[in-house]
Amino acid sequence: MGRLLGWGLGIVAVLATAVFVGMRVPAVQDAVARHAIDRLLLQRPEHLFDDAALRVLLCGTSSPMPHPTRARPCVAVFAGGRFYVVDVGTGSWNRLAGWRVDGARIGAVLLTHFHSDHIGELGEYDLQTWTAGRPGPLRVFGPPGVSRVVAGFEEAYALDTGYRIAHHGAELMDPAKGRMEARSVPAAGVVLEENGLTVTAFAVEHDPVKPAYGYRFDYRGRSVVVSGDTAKSERVVEAARGADVLLHEAQANRIVAQIGEAAARGGLPRIAKIMGDIPDYHTSPVEAAEVANAAGVELLVMYHLTPPPPNPLVEASSRAGSPTCAATAGWSPTTGCWWSCPGTATPWRWAASRRRGSGPRGRAAPGRRGARAPGPPTPAGRAARGPAPPGRPGCGRARRS
Ligand SMILES: [Zn+2]
Ligand SMILES: [Zn+2]
Repeated sequence: MGRLLGWGLGIVAVLATAVFVGMRVPAVQDAVARHAIDRLLLQRPEHLFDDAALRVLLCGTSSPMPHPTRARPCVAVFAGGRFYVVDVGTGSWNRLAGWRVDGARIGAVLLTHFHSDHIGELGEYDLQTWTAGRPGPLRVFGPPGVSRVVAGFEEAYALDTGYRIAHHGAELMDPAKGRMEARSVPAAGVVLEENGLTVTAFAVEHDPVKPAYGYRFDYRGRSVVVSGDTAKSERVVEAARGADVLLHEAQANRIVAQIGEAAARGGLPRIAKIMGDIPDYHTSPVEAAEVANAAGVELLVMYHLTPPPPNPLVEASSRAGSPTCAATAGWSPTTGCWWSCPGTATPWRWAASRRRGSGPRGRAAPGRRGARAPGPPTPAGRAARGPAPPGRPGCGRARRS
């Protein structure tokens, strides 16, 4: 036994030495780099664009408060061979690029409103998807005012755009395609219909930001609703009625209050004032669950987390401790929606028609079966979508956005 252990340790030591020395040999470094570059360049997640399903990637789950790894709000919805991005928070393009999503296949950007955490990377989305080979101008939908926002970002990037054209040539970097097209959405209603996808804007409650929108995506019998920033609202309930998934913002007001109290004690009145102001135009996790239950959605995913939990303790504190949580019939702290779905490279997938997926790559859903919202399903919608799924769509903790 002792001899065997000695041999084992010896082999491990030899291998470790070989790796240590090898990684300092230029030929070995080149071989490793070639392999990695091949993987990065050539292995793209093409399955995201399989048009038999509606898919969602969370490319940003944070809010204006800082977090070392999470990007600010961003939801990418894949349908009809393209992807549509709801809000373009700072750091979110880096997520999509890191997952090697083909920027040329962007369908549109849909802005919920113009708070900075939702628009910060608009210029980068335009530049990067143009560079990737976008076939035309980037459409940017949003409330009235979107033209001004788009014009501002275009002006900020104008010099850079000129450099790119001069350096790479107008044939590669076609100036006509490198523009953005602002599409103002004056009121709630259908925003676009193409390739079987219908996107509908609905007004939410985020005063004094008016109008502020959420968006509903319907595709081949599946539906995803993104709340945007809002106080708890019946409008979201109506928009999400019978949807498969509701992505709802969530603000842990208990922690926000603690931050405010600490700021007041510490002589930081500006922070204390802001922490006192923000609860009235956001939704607590329990309220988001109540909205989901009232709408009868299959799955609630909370994003735009305020504050973005920096560690498991804050995560637990954010989603627990509310006496009404258990009363919301199934939305227990173990649903996982708060802390299992903050961001993942693997999308939720719902097969169109009757081929309903049970989760990404066979992973089991983290929540209990009982976590399904008990609200009244829409009979017509349920019939159109087929029987209930074998399990809730899963979500992983692998990466945060
Ligand atoms: Zn926000
Ligand atoms: Zn906002």
